[in-house]
Amino acid sequence: MRKLKIKAKPLELKKGDTVIVISGKDKGLKGKIIRTIPEKGMVVVEGVNMQTHFLRPTQDMPQGKITKREGPIYASKVQLICPHCHEKTRVSHKILDNGKSVRVCMNCHEVIDKI
Ligand SMILES: [Zn+2]
Repeated sequence: MRKLKIKAKPLELKKGDTVIVISGKDKGLKGKIIRTIPEKGMVVVEGVNMQTHFLRPTQDMPQGKITKREGPIYASKVQLICPHCHEKTRVSHKILDNGKSVRVCMNCHEVIDKI
């Protein structure tokens, strides 16, 4: 049987974008994207979906250590905040004269990406 590859929707979000969480337990939190995981449609956002990890005791740290780290969340649970109008927004795309595709804010129509 042939396996169907499920193609994830391409991420509209990029590392460094500021986003707001629109659903889930962290709803309302804002943060910067630290990492994107396009193949899973997920992003890791600064300070969002904090997960506790316990590091095993070692010789240097006989007590072990508890650390907190951001876990990935689905990109559909966050919305981009436009760096120009500071509103949460959806993006459209625009092709520049040089052929480069950039993201454009649907609120203020400013280009979001650095050109
Ligand atoms: Zn805008």
